[in-house]
Amino acid sequence: MTKHIFVTGGVVSSLGKGLTSASIAMLLEARGLRVKMQKLDPYINVDPGTMSPYQHGEVYVLDDGSETDLDLGHYERFTTTHLTRQSNYTTGQIYQSVINKERRGEFLGKTVQVIPHITNEIKEVVLQLDDADTDVVITEIGGTVGDIESLPFLEAIRQIPLERGRENCMFIHLTLVPFLKAAGELKTKPTQHSVGILRQIGIQPDILVCRTERSLDISDREKIALFCNVPLNSVIEERDKDFSIYEVPLSLQANKIDDLILKQLDLPAAGAELDGWHDILHRLRNPEHEVSIALVGKYAEHRDAYKSIYEALDHGGIANYTQVRVQPIKSEEIERDGAEKALAGFDALIVPGGFGERGVEGKVEAIRYARERNLPFLGICLGMQCAVIDFARNVAELTEAHSTEFFRDTPHPVICLMEEQEGVTEKGGTMRLGSQPAKLTAGSKSALAYGTSEISERHRHRYEFNSGYKQQLEQAGLVIAGTSPDQSLVEIVEVASHPWFVAVQFHPEFKSKPTAAHPLFAGLVAAAVAHHTGAKT
Ligand code: GLN
Repeated sequence: MTKHIFVTGGVVSSLGKGLTSASIAMLLEARGLRVKMQKLDPYINVDPGTMSPYQHGEVYVLDDGSETDLDLGHYERFTTTHLTRQSNYTTGQIYQSVINKERRGEFLGKTVQVIPHITNEIKEVVLQLDDADTDVVITEIGGTVGDIESLPFLEAIRQIPLERGRENCMFIHLTLVPFLKAAGELKTKPTQHSVGILRQIGIQPDILVCRTERSLDISDREKIALFCNVPLNSVIEERDKDFSIYEVPLSLQANKIDDLILKQLDLPAAGAELDGWHDILHRLRNPEHEVSIALVGKYAEHRDAYKSIYEALDHGGIANYTQVRVQPIKSEEIERDGAEKALAGFDALIVPGGFGERGVEGKVEAIRYARERNLPFLGICLGMQCAVIDFARNVAELTEAHSTEFFRDTPHPVICLMEEQEGVTEKGGTMRLGSQPAKLTAGSKSALAYGTSEISERHRHRYEFNSGYKQQLEQAGLVIAGTSPDQSLVEIVEVASHPWFVAVQFHPEFKSKPTAAHPLFAGLVAAAVAHHTGAKT
């Protein structure tokens, strides 16, 4: 029988529930269990695909093309679990499905209500993950306990133990134990209140994971245990990690969270196999090189907007025993001050994906600088499109070349709307999304980095390289290093005479892991190291 773990959060948002859930999953996998993961988000958008990165951070794209919450990125980076459309639901999706059923007459004239109809729908999306190949499903509930909008989710998960047996379910509550400077002590009251709210709803947490900047002493833990009605050894400390998020699973394991879970759910388990994870931390702690990479984007100051890119750069560093320092630079700054001022002294440039015209000229300018100065460069999605614009304008002498996304009547539309996108007006889930195969050109840098000629990568775009300009740009020296298998879509462009100028239409950052850096990020960091060393000698 599949067992269920529910992870809730209290006191404040941004406690790192996603990271904690991913870490628990990783520890259970390390003990030989088969784990599935899921996130339930209380907002009304059907998915985060239409939300601004300022509001929600990055939109994380899965193989099947679903546009999901960025926490799912942690799940994939920390575990081997396969995520699908069933791994992320929002209030919007739940209501949409119930309303569609009502319109089809499936409720047979009954009044449709939050309880039981919405809560039944929520239970269904959780329990559909049960199967013979899954030992544990971990479901993270977004939002903070006490919010009005998360109530139906909490009510639904309260009911699940009634159906599946309390012994087959566990509630883990993540909470904050703040340090009050004026009093010079840690305060447990917010945790008591937040667990109080959960208990009012009928949920008794089994484990409390206490986020804190200082160590809890025994009296703090005793107080929390007593007031929150949990055994002392189930009060687990999770201190802030100033070094790396990859320490989180190891510190949870040091506090025996995996043993507690296995015991309570009565699961058989092997000893933990964590050598790979220890190796990551060893490499992070003992770098042989240090490089600085400029990330030029529209939302540069907003780290969460490029979450997976930051992570993938770290992975590239791990693969190369290199400490990677990333400096975000707003592309508008380059428009104002010029590329030289902003980019001098960096070892590589990365230009990520994006939408909208603001800052595009700054990106093109930054890429031109990298191309002309032999600065290693990785362009992703819009970053690739800007690379093509730069090359067309400044090498192929098509001075007014542009993307029709930004200049509809450009005389040289080197980037244009994909044919399948013409006439599409609905915004949600309508881009070219998810995994698509591509083949690589023998001898290209990409083919060398991947070590194979066939790849599959995740996409999220409406515009593409205009094949009508292929010949002209190739003649000017642009290398088409990857295309769709039928060669109709250009997936990768490179500049042969440059040490590392690789620009891709897809999003390699979504498939990078700390234990297996994506080849293009490993390649970029290796080129940055060479650039750094070359610059010194
Ligand atoms: N705006 C571009 C497009 O839709 C790039 C998208 C992206 O960078 N994800 O094609």
